[in-house]
Amino acid sequence: MLIVKKFGGSSVANRERIFCVAKRCAEDYKKGNDIVIVLSAMGDTTDDLMEEAKSINEKASKREMDMLLAIGEQKSVALMAMALQSLGVPAISLNAFQVMMHTTSRYGNARFKNIDIERIQHELDSHKIVVVTGFQGVNKYNDVTTLGRGGSDTTAVALAAILNADACEIYTDVEGVYTADPRIEPKARKLKEITYDEMLDLATLGAKVLHNRSVEMAKKYDVPLIVRSSLKSVEGTTVKEEVKVEKMLISGVTADKNTARISVLGVKDKPGVEFRIFNLLAKNNINIDTILQSVSEDGRKDISFTIAQDAMRETLEVLNEAKDSINVRKIEYEENVAKVSIVGAGMISNPGVAAKMFEALYDEGISIKMISTSEIRVTVLVEEKDADKAVRAIHAAFALGE
Ligand code: ADP
Ligand code: ASP
Ligand code: MG
Repeated sequence: MLIVKKFGGSSVANRERIFCVAKRCAEDYKKGNDIVIVLSAMGDTTDDLMEEAKSINEKASKREMDMLLAIGEQKSVALMAMALQSLGVPAISLNAFQVMMHTTSRYGNARFKNIDIERIQHELDSHKIVVVTGFQGVNKYNDVTTLGRGGSDTTAVALAAILNADACEIYTDVEGVYTADPRIEPKARKLKEITYDEMLDLATLGAKVLHNRSVEMAKKYDVPLIVRSSLKSVEGTTVKEEVKVEKMLISGVTADKNTARISVLGVKDKPGVEFRIFNLLAKNNINIDTILQSVSEDGRKDISFTIAQDAMRETLEVLNEAKDSINVRKIEYEENVAKVSIVGAGMISNPGVAAKMFEALYDEGISIKMISTSEIRVTVLVEEKDADKAVRAIHAAFALGE
């Protein structure tokens, strides 16, 4: 069997944890399996590096940020290979350059284009455990890129797909995917299985247990994913196309605090204004989600939308620059907001799901600023301070807990 195993930052945070992972992988290796290990940076390394950059230059270029952040993963793979070697297991560490993991050019948010497998295959053929850096890639300029926060999951899935691995295991600091973030709702229940589609929505809407692109890629290449604990040897959660268990009404509730709202007020109501505003943002690679537009009064209307909080400065800059040409009276923003979402394939055939969610929020006195829905999810925008309370109230209303 060829197994790709990915360990997150907390799973390799210190010497003890590194050895714990190394021993576990060595056991699987000794059973005759081929093992590829994908690692994140140790503990809070990535956050610390970002802070360090900020202390030097508040507006550091994305290229230099990637150059800096990539060292975190390089450190963990080297130490892991050393740990394995000290246990008498042949191992080699490789970074994105050595493997040649080609990505798009976009620093800070690159996507894989293709990955060369020759080097990894060669090392596996010579019976080594191959320890590969997560999160990083190489673009057409031969520059280091990164895949966005949490991107090591995507490296693992991409390698599992390209190597045609028998399993892709994501080891983390919780025991699997839960009905809510167990740190916010201690009564959250571990799911045995979840579909790619539900997991993709949960991940996109704040459940950082998996990087959303890793789920997208797993679905595309049909890679069954297992999320499990790096500390305890217990059953985790399988993410796959279809689940056997009876579909639950909703599978989970999640919150995303990395959210900001921007309102473009007094826009002249004539055809094409929406196109001009959102085209401008798209051209600047700014991702928009929920959009709300008011009914026009005196020939003017208001358009509000949400974006990731870390994209706010850039979005405001872009809009303010174009303020006159897009004929806008005023631009407002709000940072202290959060998205709270419920996700579940069961809601397709069950009316009243949204109403139940809104009732739970009403009972807690939480007001809703914006709403958006799809076939399998409902998202509301609330005050950031209410987000955790909202998650717990909704979790209880749908009786998702133990
Ligand atoms: P890693 O460093 O292993 O990649 P992350 O911190 O990225 O770990 O992701 C694991 C964290 O995701 C958990 O500690 C948990 O707090 C959080 N999380 C959010 N939503 C969920 C959920 N629905 N199920 C499990 N964990 C969740
Ligand atoms: N080290 C990176 C981060 O902290 C990538 C990852 O953990 O997946 O975002
Ligand atoms: Mg992660």
